[in-house]
Amino acid sequence: MQWTRSETLALAQQSCTYCYGLGLKQGRSGVSTPCNCVFRAIFRACYARFKQCTSKEKYVSRVSLESNPGRQRKSVWGLKNEEFIADFCLVSRRTLDEKQHKLFSYHFLLGADWKMCCRKLNMDRGTFFHELYRIEGKLGRTFRELEPHALFPLDEYFSSTGRSQVATVTPFPVQTEKPAQTKPIFKFPVRRAA
Ligand SMILES: [Zn+2]
Repeated sequence: MQWTRSETLALAQQSCTYCYGLGLKQGRSGVSTPCNCVFRAIFRACYARFKQCTSKEKYVSRVSLESNPGRQRKSVWGLKNEEFIADFCLVSRRTLDEKQHKLFSYHFLLGADWKMCCRKLNMDRGTFFHELYRIEGKLGRTFRELEPHALFPLDEYFSSTGRSQVATVTPFPVQTEKPAQTKPIFKFPVRRAA
């Protein structure tokens, strides 16, 4: 994927001392790369949505009929919120190393504060926050650059336009235009294998 100046500018932290709010910093080879504050902003947005999805009651979840690309082209029932929760956890598991994932689980998934994490992981406050920023940056970048379906921008992930032929429907049998090709099968959240 290609990063654009307008995208990094919108996400950058105005008080950032590395990029001065521009969202881009000069790399060693003279090529501009997105600043860590941009990646962290992406992570925070995804984490906020993750918390929102996990706190919702089951019946609020949105069910949508989505076409599954590939040779068989079957349509599947998707639960957006549950998919996002699964993606958030699985991508983090794959991206982080074991030590980082432990901190990530304690702090972001289990809600332990820095004091509890430091005690459990046997590290000081400075090391904890240094590691936390690195994790946020690493995950933010992955969430945005993930192929073929990035977790960020969130509206693209949750909207129908991000994927081909996605239609929001009621969870009851529906008459489709081409029943033979779009035979719905009921399938639970995780569409992409780990
Ligand atoms: Zn910055």
